[in-house]
Amino acid sequence: MQRPLPVLDHLTTPFWEGCREHVLRLQKCGACGKAQFPPGPICRSCRSADVTWITGSGRGTVYSWIVVRHPIPAEIYAPEVPYVVALVDLAEGTRMPTNIVGCAPEDVVAGMQVEIVFRDLTEQISIPQFRPIA
Ligand SMILES: [Zn+2]
Repeated sequence: MQRPLPVLDHLTTPFWEGCREHVLRLQKCGACGKAQFPPGPICRSCRSADVTWITGSGRGTVYSWIVVRHPIPAEIYAPEVPYVVALVDLAEGTRMPTNIVGCAPEDVVAGMQVEIVFRDLTEQISIPQFRPIA
């Protein structure tokens, strides 16, 4: 069994192309100014179609997290346990599901300041993860 990879479509391709270049791309609404993730065809706050891509700062704070010790499917993820799956509140005001890396799982705390790093899975796919800001 192989690790599942993201499937790019017309909404997500700019995001994944940014990740491949190690750049965080987010959508921002031209009407209300809010950033959003995941990308969508319209703004989830005000329903405007005036959404464009911006480069995110790559900084945020940990909102919540879990420590995975019994992954499914185990044949893919067992070598990586324990690992942290977290929600990070980005500086731009939207929230992203991700991993926290670069520290022990028990050292993750709510409000921890983190910055983005990219893990290259294939030549096409890099995934955004976050590590504590030193
Ligand atoms: Zn809006």
